[in-house]
Amino acid sequence: MNLFGLDRAQLRAAFAAMGEKPYRADQVMQWIYRRGKDSFDEMSNISKALRERLAQHFEIRTPELVTEQVSADGTRKWVLRLDGGNAIETVYIPEEGRATLCISSQVGCAMDCSFCSTAQQGLNRNMTTAEIIAQVWFAARTLGGDFQNERVISNIVFMGMGEPLANYNAVLPAIRILLDDFGFGLSKRRVTVSTSGLVPFIDRLREDVDTALAVSLHAPTDALRDELVPINRKYPIAELLDACRRYTAGKDRKTHIVYEYVMLDGVNDKPEHARALARLLGDMAAKVNLIPFNPFPQTQYRRSKPEAIQAFAKILRDRRILTTVRRTRGDDIDAACGQLVGRVQSRQKNRLSARIGDVPVIST
Ligand code: SAH
Repeated sequence: MNLFGLDRAQLRAAFAAMGEKPYRADQVMQWIYRRGKDSFDEMSNISKALRERLAQHFEIRTPELVTEQVSADGTRKWVLRLDGGNAIETVYIPEEGRATLCISSQVGCAMDCSFCSTAQQGLNRNMTTAEIIAQVWFAARTLGGDFQNERVISNIVFMGMGEPLANYNAVLPAIRILLDDFGFGLSKRRVTVSTSGLVPFIDRLREDVDTALAVSLHAPTDALRDELVPINRKYPIAELLDACRRYTAGKDRKTHIVYEYVMLDGVNDKPEHARALARLLGDMAAKVNLIPFNPFPQTQYRRSKPEAIQAFAKILRDRRILTTVRRTRGDDIDAACGQLVGRVQSRQKNRLSARIGDVPVIST
């Protein structure tokens, strides 16, 4: 069993089942996540006998690196090979004063959003907790920071490949490891789950763990959202926003949900859309993040004009809705939002995947 797959409660239970003291599990977690070790031999406060037992029962293993690409803006994209021949992508986005790691939670995605390239490959399989967490550990180790003090990764967003709430049972322990003081020790505002709107799981998330939420809204009316984000046919906007109200209710006043809104030229970017969006969100603890559309081969959409994006933002801001425009990062290496496709070696539609081979590989 790979230790990256167990949160603290699960690891303690595994140790108890082996007849070991639970606090030993805490020590092992600190070695892995705070000190960045992946070898039992280095865990010097643990007896040699126990280290040998652990090595028989467990492994600490990251997926294999396929390629690393570095964008002109410093964004890095790693393609990692999972067991079974699938590959996923993890993106590192350094900015002034923070550095965000964008992680994947599924190989492909079943949500079928019409403007997303990951959608084109369909869902191949869920990732395990170990595979989700190993991305973070791998990135921290590759970036060479101290796991404890100098944080090379300050924020984690579940905005890579996949719909995290459609893989809830693996994502929940992963969130717990990210937040745990014996794990990565990130604060709850620095871990963001982004969802296309799986209402029942928004409610479960609220009950199970305290973490930041982003919701991919993308349209102010059901007719348009049905087309862009098909899960809307099952959980329409009114139900989604009710779940969002429940999510922030009872949390402190600073808790906002970020509503993501991809800007598609002539589709959802008109002033009337902005006004309708403002009406929807007017009474809510909301921020809006406008995402200029990132194109990919064979898409029917174009990115909104910069003036349209600015005009849209102004309408929202005039109505006192905090609005940001996401800066496009890493698009020269196809690492921008909605451009992640992994590289898939098993039977499935993978015509978009081929283009990963076209871009220069800086190092492997
Ligand atoms: N499944 C999750 C994570 C998706 S990726 C979700 O739906 O929220 C993070 C964001 O990028 C989502 O808001 C998604 O809708 C957006 N996105 C997808 N494709 C895009 C594209 N081609 N250009 C810009 N943003 C895109």
